[in-house]
Amino acid sequence: MKYEPVIGLEVHAQLLTESKIFCGCSTQFGRGPNDNACPVCAGFPGVLPVLNKKVVELAIKTGLATGSEIRPSSILARKNYFYPDLPKGYQISQYELPICVNGAVEIEIDGSRKRIRLTRIHMEEDAGKNIHDAHGDASLVDLNRAGVPLLEIVSEPDIRTAAEAGAYLRTLRAILQYLGVCDGNMEEGSFRCDANVSVRPAGSDVFGTKVEIKNLNSFKAVERAIEFEIERQTEALAENTTIAQETRLWDENREETRPMRSKESAHDYRYFPDPDLLPLVIDRAWIAEIRTTLPELPSARKARFMTEYALPDYEAELLTSRKDIADYFESAMRVHANPKGLANWIVGDLFRIVKERKLDEQFYIAAWPVASHSLAEMVRLIDQGKISGRIGKTVFEAMLDSGKTPEQIVREKGLEQVSDAGSIEVAVEHVIAANAKQVAQFQSGNEKVFGFLVGQIMKATQGKANPQKVNEILHAKLRSRG
Ligand SMILES: [Zn+2]
Repeated sequence: MKYEPVIGLEVHAQLLTESKIFCGCSTQFGRGPNDNACPVCAGFPGVLPVLNKKVVELAIKTGLATGSEIRPSSILARKNYFYPDLPKGYQISQYELPICVNGAVEIEIDGSRKRIRLTRIHMEEDAGKNIHDAHGDASLVDLNRAGVPLLEIVSEPDIRTAAEAGAYLRTLRAILQYLGVCDGNMEEGSFRCDANVSVRPAGSDVFGTKVEIKNLNSFKAVERAIEFEIERQTEALAENTTIAQETRLWDENREETRPMRSKESAHDYRYFPDPDLLPLVIDRAWIAEIRTTLPELPSARKARFMTEYALPDYEAELLTSRKDIADYFESAMRVHANPKGLANWIVGDLFRIVKERKLDEQFYIAAWPVASHSLAEMVRLIDQGKISGRIGKTVFEAMLDSGKTPEQIVREKGLEQVSDAGSIEVAVEHVIAANAKQVAQFQSGNEKVFGFLVGQIMKATQGKANPQKVNEILHAKLRSRG
């Protein structure tokens, strides 16, 4: 029997607001425990929440960017559960009437496109954090996170593989980053994902028992956990074992999921409209106004990079998958308009160094030491023939560690390309005289030796000779002797 996995993802994205969703406390990360807490987010009796307008604006922005319907009126509801990181005993969220419904995110996988539908996008507050085992028998409670605004973005179960899940998350994160809605930092927890996974016999239209996986802190964790779960459930089905509806935790070290608790159903939470907050009624004119502020989104920017700059699919994709990198490329283009050259240095060398230095998913161009205009000036030096492409690599690495401009580095290190025929001729003569055996081999028809001789000349000129001139002069000299 063949089986088919069915996957839906729930993403929690922390919104880039200055203050929390229902009070004036700061949302700043990394402050001392409970520095960002007040009676409202600490859940004291008698306090009143006031909805932060910016949160609504960012939710609408996300809804518009994903083609969702923006509900003219929606409700903030209490989701009741007791846990010490949530002093009120309930979380303010949205249930029956979320702010956005019926959107979609289009992903690209192995060259083909697929639409992943969005069930809903709703606003809610984050809970605080408990730390156990750090202070003897006592548990510590930090409420800095309580009341931090989140968007919960829920997909339909349209995803079929771990790779599709990864592509969906990367695309969604790029959209949120482009919108300036969320910084997408998975390590700090501002972009989190839970995965709902079930498996059913291929061709069936009934869903299998759903398992929710939590504690997924990286794209890699999401993909691995889904793969593990698909395998585990497929084996269980094949052996006719019952699959429990439960929440499981991903254990990064052991690379497996294990049971955490049996899954609550919606009715366990006793949702009801929060009596402290009026229904949220949104003015159509405000939605129209927000629509005018939408930036160019990743897929549109990629298409433009392919037509405007004649870049191939692969390079356009890599450059636009992150807004900061696409911006970096375009600001370099304003200094020196060689799209292919700049794209090669970014996609090739910059990405390689980011990987080598293990900056990967936490890498931001703001922390990159080479300014866009310096990269552009270096490519210009190459295009003007002032340095060779090979010397460019040396200049690139030197810029990285010194912060100097390419001109400075070329001048200080004496890296300028030698193009004048006189000095190249001297080097060519010298190499010919020193390699009589190879010269004879070339003249008796062994063309391959030519490359060796060029290499010797480049070595003698410390890589600074213009390679094209070296080729011409060497050819002419050898021909005149032959
Ligand atoms: Zn507060």
